[in-house]
Amino acid sequence: MSATRAAHRVLVLNSGSSSVKYQLLDMRDASRLAAGLVERIGEQTSRLKHSCLATGETREHTGPIADHDAALKAVAEELTRDGLGLDSPELAAIGHRVVHGGMFFTEPTVVDDEVLAEIERLIPVAPLHNPANLTGIRTAQALRPDLPQVAVFDTAFHTTMPESAARYAIDPKTADRHRIRRYGFHGTSHAYVSRETARLLGKDPSEVNVIVLHLGNGASASAVEKGRCVDTSMGMTPLEGLVMGTRSGDLDPAVIFHLARVGGMSMDEIDTLLNKRSGLFGLCGDNDMREIRRRIDEGDEEAALAFDIYIHRLKKYIGAYYAVLGQVDAVAFTAGVGENAAPVREAAISGLAGLGLAVDPELNAVRADRARIVSPKGARVAVAVVPTDEELEIATQTYALVGKNN
Ligand code: AMP
Repeated sequence: MSATRAAHRVLVLNSGSSSVKYQLLDMRDASRLAAGLVERIGEQTSRLKHSCLATGETREHTGPIADHDAALKAVAEELTRDGLGLDSPELAAIGHRVVHGGMFFTEPTVVDDEVLAEIERLIPVAPLHNPANLTGIRTAQALRPDLPQVAVFDTAFHTTMPESAARYAIDPKTADRHRIRRYGFHGTSHAYVSRETARLLGKDPSEVNVIVLHLGNGASASAVEKGRCVDTSMGMTPLEGLVMGTRSGDLDPAVIFHLARVGGMSMDEIDTLLNKRSGLFGLCGDNDMREIRRRIDEGDEEAALAFDIYIHRLKKYIGAYYAVLGQVDAVAFTAGVGENAAPVREAAISGLAGLGLAVDPELNAVRADRARIVSPKGARVAVAVVPTDEELEIATQTYALVGKNN
């Protein structure tokens, strides 16, 4: 990273089907200049919330924003009001989060027509995400056609997984014809957190093995060996693996046949059940860990069982990835639940002293924004809490790529 590059800002865009999240960063010191969110795009009650971090000013607008094009233009206007307009020569690039890069995209990539076509070809395996990501890129291109647009893929960090971890045990011809394999997601977070954990231990990423537990509303675990991902819990889609806010995670696939044949449910109904109405929400009616803990404190048995099922699955993955790695230097907790819910960390690690894993109750109870170790001093394996920063990771990768190409 050079402090002398004239264009040193990166705009990060995370485009969902009806929302756009954004951050503008100054890559000379990785500081945030502005951040915001446009929600409910296409409705009468769209909302734009914008914060200029330099001045501390926050502005909010409610009213119809018809589409992504209108949303991005509204964001551009807000940035201009703060003297941070998208026409500024200081803007180096726009970095886009793209959920599915398949096997093709192993690294961040400058967008051209071929890249757009490949992201489009991946829509059948990422129908919920890639169309919105594409719309975001095309809209940004129209706004600044001269500027490099960089796609940063959620799957890229996991493309180092060996075939033994990436393949399902089904006929390879059928699998390949339909692009069925384990891709993994949350890759920018797993990459960032595994690196930051190494830094916390005072080591280079190539010297450590880390189990990363990204526990947000979506949740995934990964086994990172010397900086490279060797296994992760999400699969062809983000449905596999851990118990999540509203997703079931692992499930006997025959449950789906049973629900269709015996339960009379349609494929779309089963899809909705497993993605939107399962996990913690399906088990107890709440997907927010704060609410679940509050209910447990009041003696609610349904919430307690949901918590136990969540922890049991998490523990199984810690054990599995311990075995995959053979030797582990750290287990790192991140994202909304992982960073904030001390009882989840404590319960997931309890009983694992035989593996060299323990948390210090006092250190674990401390609330803080910084990366920290919560295992007892001298523990064989560090247990760490490492706040994730996907926007910074996207901006860093984008800026590095654009710098290389200049
Ligand atoms: P994320 O997807 O990373 O934004 O995480 C969102 C989830 O984090 C929420 O649904 C909550 O379950 C959880 N969460 C956020 N803050 C807390 C907190 N203070 N304590 C426990 N869980 C939290």
